[in-house]
Amino acid sequence: MTYDVAVVGSGFSAIALTINLLRFLPSSASIAVVGDDPGFGRGTAYRTEFYLHRLNVPAARMSAFPDRPDDFVEWLRRQGRAVFAEDFASRGDYGLYLRDTLASLLRPRERRAHVDFIKAKATACVECERDGLVFCLDNTGELKARNVVLALGVGNADLPLPATRIDRDVHSRIVENPWRLGWLSRVGREDEICIFGSGLTMIDQVLSLRAQGHRGRIHVLSRRGLVPHAHPLRRAAPVPPELAESREISALLHALRRQARAGADWRGVVDGLRPQTQALWQSLSRDQRSRFLRHALAWWNIHRHRIAPDVSARFDALLKDGTVTVHAGFLQSLDREGEGAGIRYRKRGTKEIVSFRADWIVNCTGMERAGIGHSPLLRAMRDREMIAMDDLGLGISVDAQSRVVDPQGKPQPGLFAAGALTAGQFWEITAVPDIRVQAKALAETIAGDIARNLPWPARIA
Ligand SMILES: Cc1cc2nc3c(=O)[nH]c(=O)nc-3n(C[C@H](O)[C@H](O)[C@H](O)COP(=O)(O)OP(=O)(O)OC[C@H]3O[C@@H](n4cnc5c(N)ncnc54)[C@H](O)[C@@H]3O)c2cc1C
Repeated sequence: MTYDVAVVGSGFSAIALTINLLRFLPSSASIAVVGDDPGFGRGTAYRTEFYLHRLNVPAARMSAFPDRPDDFVEWLRRQGRAVFAEDFASRGDYGLYLRDTLASLLRPRERRAHVDFIKAKATACVECERDGLVFCLDNTGELKARNVVLALGVGNADLPLPATRIDRDVHSRIVENPWRLGWLSRVGREDEICIFGSGLTMIDQVLSLRAQGHRGRIHVLSRRGLVPHAHPLRRAAPVPPELAESREISALLHALRRQARAGADWRGVVDGLRPQTQALWQSLSRDQRSRFLRHALAWWNIHRHRIAPDVSARFDALLKDGTVTVHAGFLQSLDREGEGAGIRYRKRGTKEIVSFRADWIVNCTGMERAGIGHSPLLRAMRDREMIAMDDLGLGISVDAQSRVVDPQGKPQPGLFAAGALTAGQFWEITAVPDIRVQAKALAETIAGDIARNLPWPARIA
């Protein structure tokens, strides 16, 4: 069977695409969704069941549909949750919302496109025929489709620790991927923990540890020691940005800082920029984008990706009572020390070497960018010159319609990408408010292509 559309992936991007395809495709169409995640649609972000793992975007902005902004808030109301539009719902609830939303669109069988959910990982794209793409699946099957959307996220491969020397004996004490649940149950109540990375994943892990009764010390080490800021209790209204004419990244950031210093709430300034971020990114030269990634990304992240106020209050209390200490510096070595590890790092801005001991070392540095290297499928497609990495290595090259372009810059017929893989083109495309817009636009484009029934290679001529 040749499907009209195959969606490869099983996180929010895949579910957002599927629900939009169900809205826009005729009932005669067929869709395959290929994903290796048992909690389809939840991905790493929304599979958690811990109530303090909150969304970092207010409920009012988390509807799966850009054209039905109240959808999530109404779902919360129907469930009897005491969560209001400006509150930060739990990510577990968001996963349930996505499941219910998909289920309700799947119910009227006779009036919707046919959908097959295939639990597998796509490992290679073996053939490129005149009327479609053929994917190899790790369950030994094959899948053929006339349109394919790659929605693979950033990947969740184990990440190496950025240390110059790691004693082999320490490996049993390193948690390389904190999203592999189960490590928490091995931690003793008084164990000392060292977490690498000081972003959102670190906050999640600290709160999970405390909730399960852990009372030992927690050291957090990152290059800059920057921790995400909090959303205010009352949301600051977005302030339209007064941007410089210049497309130098330093001038643009300076203009934002000036606006905040002149009295506007900085959170309002950052939020006010959001509707323009994609266009602004596209207007920057490669050199300026690269400067932003090198020098401003860590600062941008803590201001832009803020945490819920009560989550922040809990974390601050742990900082104040000395349970959590945040260190800024560069990891030098990990050596066996008793049952745990001795950690040595160089303090930021100095030559001073600091050392401490921990029973567990947890890597929360996270994947900043999708890239290609983590995915056998993407590597295989790159080797066949079907895709190319974007010029900053954030993901793969796509055009403004999210059509995948080959190394010669030519859009590939019927091949699209969504979510973090498209960050080179859009930058701000890793969170729900942006992905949902992209998913709707993609579904409309694909529905248009199918309606016109053009021969395959002519579609994008
Ligand atoms: C802990 C956490 C909290 C977050 N909180 C928020 C929030 O509050 N609000 C917000 O807007 N955003 C949040 N985000 C951002 C979040 O990444 C997006 O909202 C969204 O979940 C991204 O979904 P995705 O489908 O693009 O990627 P992912 O969720 O990573 O899903 C990709 C899926 O594709 C599957 N896959 C990969 N390769 C293949 C293959 N070859 N074959 C088959 N399947 C494959 C993977 O197994 C994975 O399940 C959070 C992210 C994290 C990690």
